[in-house]
Amino acid sequence: MIVFYENGYTVYRTMTQRCACYIIKTNQYSVLIDTSMRFEHKAVIRSIEAAGISKIDAIFLTHSHTDHVANARYFSNEFHCSVYVSPKGMKHMIKGCCTMPKGTNSFSRLLSRVEPQIPFYQFTRFEACPQVKPISSEVVKWYLGECSELLETPGHTSDSVSIILDRHIAFVGDAMVHVLGNIYPPFADDEKAVITSWNALLSTQCQTFCPAHGKPVSREKLIRAYQRSAK
Ligand SMILES: [Zn+2]
Repeated sequence: MIVFYENGYTVYRTMTQRCACYIIKTNQYSVLIDTSMRFEHKAVIRSIEAAGISKIDAIFLTHSHTDHVANARYFSNEFHCSVYVSPKGMKHMIKGCCTMPKGTNSFSRLLSRVEPQIPFYQFTRFEACPQVKPISSEVVKWYLGECSELLETPGHTSDSVSIILDRHIAFVGDAMVHVLGNIYPPFADDEKAVITSWNALLSTQCQTFCPAHGKPVSREKLIRAYQRSAK
């Protein structure tokens, strides 16, 4: 599904349920943002094929949680491409494990506590990706051009980053989650930093913020949520 087409960029959202990944296609390169869970690797491949794209040149990870990174190694091998994550997330990728984030409401707090006891499901484990490299502004601009930016957006996790395209659209991972009208992330290691990161995202002048869970968020909606939360 195309979500953006302008100035030589085409952006597709993958047909995945657990984590929305995005494919950014420029005149030169195709970059996959996030990779979803292992059981969704075929859905990601189908989305890439449906977009008429034959190769992925790089994978950018918004943070090192399992539902975003579980196919990183698989796609890196499949497409012979590099995988990039925040320097703070590299140790998780190399080991193949992350920490369970803190819940921000009563339901997610309960989920955080019971997750280690759920049989056959370990959120914090995934296939390690030892070939991972650190993401930087230079890397993002190399693949996506001078109109792109890397923005550190900690809060959900300390290693969360967003990719800004053309001062118009931002790919924010779990910095916000757009479900049932609400955009506040149900999990966040540092809730103060979530709000600071929203402010940083607003200062990019972007009009649309694409989270990995739920629909894109308009600038107006983010401003309203920011004003409510910053009080
Ligand atoms: Zn996450």
